[in-house]
Amino acid sequence: MNKNFDILRKKMVEEQLINRNIKDKRVLDAFLKIPRHDFVPDDVKKFAYDDSPLPIGFGQTISQPYMVAAMTELLDLKEDHILLEIGTGSGYQAAIASQLCKFVYTIERISELAEFARQNLDNLGISNVEIIVGDGSLGYADKAPYDRILYTAAAPFVPDVIFKQLKNNGIIIVPEGERHSQMLKKYIKKNSNIESCLYFGCIFVPLKGEHGFEY
Ligand code: SAM
Repeated sequence: MNKNFDILRKKMVEEQLINRNIKDKRVLDAFLKIPRHDFVPDDVKKFAYDDSPLPIGFGQTISQPYMVAAMTELLDLKEDHILLEIGTGSGYQAAIASQLCKFVYTIERISELAEFARQNLDNLGISNVEIIVGDGSLGYADKAPYDRILYTAAAPFVPDVIFKQLKNNGIIIVPEGERHSQMLKKYIKKNSNIESCLYFGCIFVPLKGEHGFEY
């Protein structure tokens, strides 16, 4: 079975990532290495390398592989970077990022999912990820400032409290917009200025909490 998964993973990288212009070799190598099937519940394992998000319980999803890759490439993670991820889910995105930077703090509001992610990461021996249970819409001030901040849930906007937790020249990647439709957006902090650019349309599950969606 694992051999089949290895073949499917290689195919996923070629057809869903390389063919859609994901170019960063470090990112592609991380996708070849991290087994997505180890981050989904048993009943959907057979779909683990499909070109789609998958349910992980509690009404939440593991994102489509291409979306994870596109966001990871835009983050431009370096080996000495500290990343804050908002929305741990299954832990898959954190596992990918853990291969590309020094340390990942990832915050999840649903404690059962945080535990699921912890198990998934432990099973693979990944030790440079810390999972926090809490409201990620406020960031995680305890370990700030961060080189990079990644939202993996749809945010209505990025509040000042998050920009304050970003280092100078730091990058935020966020699906930002309406409850049912967002644009993938990059913010770059340049001294006291914040620059931004838009990429493409996307649909994520909503960020909840103080600076999230109410419904
Ligand atoms: N990155 C995840 C992965 O690799 O599986 C997928 C994340 S899923 C699309 C979005 C996650 O954000 C859900 O697990 C959801 O519970 C979480 N979430 C939503 N609002 C949150 C908040 N205010 N703080 C922390 N996590 C939140």
